[in-house]
Order: sequence, then structure tokens, then C-alpha cells
Amino acid sequence: MPIRRDDRDRYVEVELRRGEEPLWLRCGACGELVFRRRLRENNYICPRCGAYFFLTAEERIAALVDEGTFQDLTLPLESKDPLSFSDRKPYADRLREAKETTGLKDAIVVGKGKISDHWVILAVMDFRFIGGSMGTVVGEQLAFAMERAAEERIPFVFVVASGGARVQEGVLSLLQMVKTVAARELLAEAGVPYIAVLTYPSTGGVMASIASLADVTLAEQGALIGFAGPRVIQQTTGEKLPPGFQRARYALEHGLVDGVVPREGLKEELVRVLDVLEGIPSGG
Ligand SMILES: [Zn+2]
Repeated sequence: MPIRRDDRDRYVEVELRRGEEPLWLRCGACGELVFRRRLRENNYICPRCGAYFFLTAEERIAALVDEGTFQDLTLPLESKDPLSFSDRKPYADRLREAKETTGLKDAIVVGKGKISDHWVILAVMDFRFIGGSMGTVVGEQLAFAMERAAEERIPFVFVVASGGARVQEGVLSLLQMVKTVAARELLAEAGVPYIAVLTYPSTGGVMASIASLADVTLAEQGALIGFAGPRVIQQTTGEKLPPGFQRARYALEHGLVDGVVPREGLKEELVRVLDVLEGIPSGG
């Protein structure tokens, strides 16, 4: 079924019941109930309307990395809640809930794996963990991943799914922008390529630092790419924003990304980029 323009851009709610994996999910775009296995086979794209469901870090890794090659290198770090922060609920509670829901220690997974015979170091964000926000732990994992890629002289692939800096860690989370940018320099000095894959959403402090500094930047179809959200910009500037603003296609037309790729073609496109970067002549 052809993808309708409006549907493919829409965020899709996943029905989650605590402690068990539901067999059926409801598509937030078309309202249809979709069998989970069918959805998995279809790259988590709604078979009825073509809307994209969020991918967890684990699902994203399974979609991109050759089976059986992934080695999890995520450092055993957890946020210490340095400011004892509390908004509507204490940050410590948010952290605990996010850990329970995702089974992760923070919003990122780092590892080494093969993408069609190319070894890469991967860092993959998980939006379920406090909106994929970057605090001290995410910053450290990213810096570590880049150091490792520079050391091993293999490409670094960063899959972004982030609302931005983690406000609950205040200025410490903003420092991660500086830290990750500094680590990115190591890749440049070692002549190691960095490929960013921007997904829905790639915004805030992550986009304003490390996510926008790749050698090659791909956007998954339907990605949201920007710094502040459209409503804030509209209120601040007092101007009406153009249609499609901050969407992947808009970012491509304005030179912010090098390509917009549908989810099912993402691995193939990464392979093509890696082939070119590693000097392997393309087959077609
Ligand atoms: Zn649908």
C-alpha cells in the first residue's frame, strides 16, 4: 500500500501493558489493531497506513546489525541524580521507572557489530528512557564510543532518538554537548568516519551538538529534526512556519542532511555509505 504523506510522518502510540508484551498494538495514525509479529516483520511500519512505530534501541540494533555479531559495550554507569532534582516527580523516581520499563541503565546502548561485513562502533538511543535525553551517562557513553571507534579505527554510527539535554541534570547535561563535541575531534584526528542516523525525534541539545557533526548524515523518513519545537519558535519569532518545517524532507532541501531514507532501506543505505568510505567499489 502506498504511504500517504500525512500518515508516514505521524508519531504512533504503542499500547504497553506493564510486565507483559501485548500481542496486538494499535496504530496511532489509522487506529487499526496490528498483530505484533506482523509489525515486527514489517520493520515496525503499520501494514495498513505506513506509519512508523518507535523502535527501541534493541529493535534498531536488530534491524541494522548482522545477526549474531553485536557485542554490547555499554559502560555500567547510572545517573547519580547530582542535583537531587524534582519537578512533578523526583528525578530519582523517573530514573527508576525508566530503568524498569526499558531494562536499560540509561537512554543509550553502545556496542560493536557488523553491518554487512563492515565493523562499526554503534551508539543507539532509546526514546523510551526519559525522552532519549542526554545527561551525564549518555554523554559519557557517547564519548567512550567515539574513543573506542578512534582507537580501533572503525566507523562510528550514531542513531539519534532524543528530545535533547536532560533538564533534570541542569548544567551538567549541557556540559555533555561540549564533551561529545570534543570526543568527536578524536575521530577526525584518527581519520575515522562518523555517520549519524537521525530519527523521530532528533532535537534539542543532542542535535545542537554531536548529532549535527557527522561526516555523513542520514535521516530516517518522517524524522523530526531541529532545536526548539515548532510551537516555541512560532511564539518567539511571531512568524508562521513553512509547511513541513523540521521534517526530514525539509532538512534535506535545506542542506542539513545528506539523504532521507525509508526505514526498510536504512541498512542498505548505510552499507552503501560504508562501502564508499572504505573504498569498496559499488556493485550497481
Ligand atoms: Zn496505521
